[in-house]
Amino acid sequence: MGLGISTRAIHQAGHIDEASKAVTFPIYQTSTFGQETPGCPTEYLGRKLSYGRSENPTRTVLEETLASVEGARFGLTFSTGLAAIAAVMNTLKSGDRVLACSDLYGGAYRLFTQVYAKLGIRFDFVDTTDLSGLEQALQTPTTLLWLESPSNPLLNVTDIAEACRLAKAAGALVLVDNTFATPVLQRPLELGANIVMHSTTKYLNGHGDVVNGSLIMDDEGLWNRFKFVQNACGLVPGPQDCYLILRGIKTLPLRMERHCSNAAQIANHLASHSKVSRVYYPGLADHPGHEIAKRQMSGYGAMLSFEVNAGDAGARTVLESFKLFTLAESLGCVMSLVNHPASMTHASVPADVRHSVGISDGLIRVSVGIEDIEDLVADLDQALAMV
Ligand SMILES: *Cc1c(COP(=O)(O)O)cnc(C)c1O
Repeated sequence: MGLGISTRAIHQAGHIDEASKAVTFPIYQTSTFGQETPGCPTEYLGRKLSYGRSENPTRTVLEETLASVEGARFGLTFSTGLAAIAAVMNTLKSGDRVLACSDLYGGAYRLFTQVYAKLGIRFDFVDTTDLSGLEQALQTPTTLLWLESPSNPLLNVTDIAEACRLAKAAGALVLVDNTFATPVLQRPLELGANIVMHSTTKYLNGHGDVVNGSLIMDDEGLWNRFKFVQNACGLVPGPQDCYLILRGIKTLPLRMERHCSNAAQIANHLASHSKVSRVYYPGLADHPGHEIAKRQMSGYGAMLSFEVNAGDAGARTVLESFKLFTLAESLGCVMSLVNHPASMTHASVPADVRHSVGISDGLIRVSVGIEDIEDLVADLDQALAMV
């Protein structure tokens, strides 16, 4: 891979349309494609264009761009991040076992335990930051190891290379949900993972105006399996969504620079704030995953969580007092967002499970945007002054 990631993000996503030489790849807003001879669809960008669920050129360019920024051979895109996860689950069968990190996205937990568990797929959860616990859990035959690092919402960091080594020895495939890190900061395939998953809704699109998901891999067999399911189950995104994500990716490396620098300053500010009891950010030297993050990531990201001295009620007051930070689900967009995992993103995780993995009812999760840092710090200070 000769070109740098910023160049690839722009030139792959800026794929010139061969037909018109448009410098921005067009939105092919069509459900189907005409054929001159029955059963002989037109070929474009190396794909046979028969029907919009099976292929769409705007989608193809997005899939190639996703592969390119992740340094991989193949990319696939889906209607949402959860549709991408469902695609993976749809390739499994009754009796297969998925071993997942215990601190994971609430919607993934709900999909695993309330939809696919009923179909006979076995789900077990383990703290993947503890490698000896992981090794032990892998002694039970495992089809797929599901990792999220840094995790949502506690920013736990798993040693991806070591976890992949253990999984490989046990004959399991490894998928890494790379939503928080993005390919700018972390490339799990280079660390030994088989599949990378993104909620493209988040940083890759980055502007808070679309939902989308993706799977990225080097193995052609896996690509064919997921591509079959993408079409057979109809999990595809529309071409307008693909266009928006292509536009977002062009500025991803640039946005991540500002995201990371703003987040680092906010994490340091909160860590020394008298109203704050605990900050979870892998860039802080006292974070338990700091050394691993330093090794496997090229930046610490822009997600962080914190707790206030004033407890759960105080956290609610703070959450309701922000003026710039918007209280909303989702993350990874240009505008700063705050979230209350216990009642919002992780409400579908039972309270006892939530508490056992360390997600307190007072935890505040922050997605640091790319606004002026002075304004963000001032907004945090005025919200914290309310408790
Ligand atoms: C948002 C998110 C998902 C789910 O993606 P959707 O696009 O909302 O379906 C999965 N994993 C992580 C880490 C997320 O933040």
